[in-house]
Amino acid sequence: MKYYSTNKKVPPASLKRAVMKGLADDRGLFMPENIDLLKDFVVSDMQDMSFQEISCIVAQALFGDDIDRDTLENIVNDTLNFDAPAVHIHDNIYALELFHGPTLAFKDVGARFMARLLNYFVEKENVKEVNVLVATSGDTGSAVANGFLGVDGIRVFVLYPKGKVSPVQECQFTTLGQNITALEVDGTFDDCQALVKTAFMDGELKKAQIKLTSANSINVARFLPQSFYYFYAYSQLDRKGKADELVVSVPSGNFGNLCAGLIAYWMGLPIKRFIAAGNSNRAFREYLNTGNYAPMPTIATIANAMDVGDPSNFARIIDLFSIYPNPYQAIKKRINGYNYSDAQISETMRTVSSKYGYILDPHGACGYQALVEDRLTERETGLFLETAHPAKFKSAVEQIIGRDIEMPAKLQAFMKGEKQSVNISKDFTCFRQFLMDTLSR
Ligand SMILES: *Cc1c(COP(=O)(O)O)cnc(C)c1O
Repeated sequence: MKYYSTNKKVPPASLKRAVMKGLADDRGLFMPENIDLLKDFVVSDMQDMSFQEISCIVAQALFGDDIDRDTLENIVNDTLNFDAPAVHIHDNIYALELFHGPTLAFKDVGARFMARLLNYFVEKENVKEVNVLVATSGDTGSAVANGFLGVDGIRVFVLYPKGKVSPVQECQFTTLGQNITALEVDGTFDDCQALVKTAFMDGELKKAQIKLTSANSINVARFLPQSFYYFYAYSQLDRKGKADELVVSVPSGNFGNLCAGLIAYWMGLPIKRFIAAGNSNRAFREYLNTGNYAPMPTIATIANAMDVGDPSNFARIIDLFSIYPNPYQAIKKRINGYNYSDAQISETMRTVSSKYGYILDPHGACGYQALVEDRLTERETGLFLETAHPAKFKSAVEQIIGRDIEMPAKLQAFMKGEKQSVNISKDFTCFRQFLMDTLSR
């Protein structure tokens, strides 16, 4: 399958090129050329299948042209060595718990898949070594580092701002060792991002034949595999007779997760409508209200993984709906949008904890509240994605709900590891020298 750029100013690329490049040369986002419809019978047959089995079928439709069946199945099975259960909360509302992976957040799915796909290309093409650079304000670094941990032929450098990530987040990428190097940058997240961007364009690193790539969330290898769990969610609810009128609420920041849901819908998954649930960053909501999209300054919130004022994947949504004569009306028909302040998120977390005994994380809380506000009919089932385990935000969650929550064993294990990181300044020449010294052997 070919991948075209949403800006359509460059020719379509192969899967390998799209994965290695991340962003197209015209700065557009890559999109798959044909999204094969999975036939009706396949969707209803999924009732009794496992997460891995369902994902293999979806992966075959998306990546089957480019990767042989056995290899693809291995990649999928290895990526998804954890479950994603749809848990009943109350009445017709369910949570799809996407936090059972190694770093307890949904980003594990995309990061693990991308690592394995990159490893496949590295081995097939006999590339010596690929170096992944990732700048993080906390959560992406842990999912990417753990996703790539121990994967042959790939080295990962995580750049993070010194003193600006929580201890739980920091230990998830600084204690790993092996092929993961944590770089503690004396600066802000923006400085980290600038170092990464400059490195990609640097002539001297190119001359030294150092292969650099990014594991940014706009990469097709990170966003497309997220469509797998929408099918799995459907199958779980279908088994209970609850999937006929399914409304899916997605806590959204950069909108990669929601786009993956739309891809599943385009492939034939019968989802009645989507909801984009957000915090105080409301650029998408303003678009739904007015038909005009304008980036907004980012507002810091307690659901900080969704603090995005200008969602990158908006371009993918526009591209998908451009087949309709009036894309704006078509988007409004398929997607509703709601936003919540920190106070509203906290209130929701308290209510759901005391009334139903379920502990939401601040992101999932937006997803839940949006289903309530959307006023489901009796026949409709509401499913919100629980994108992270509440213990990832332990102190904030405990303060809000007024009681202690348990730290899962997986997180405790990270906390016990020994921190290994390299201090660097925000000066690019230092960073370049470090890469040269480490990589040109
Ligand atoms: C990244 C993230 C989100 C936002 O996902 P997008 O795909 O960027 O919309 C939501 N919740 C959590 C916990 C995240 O880490």
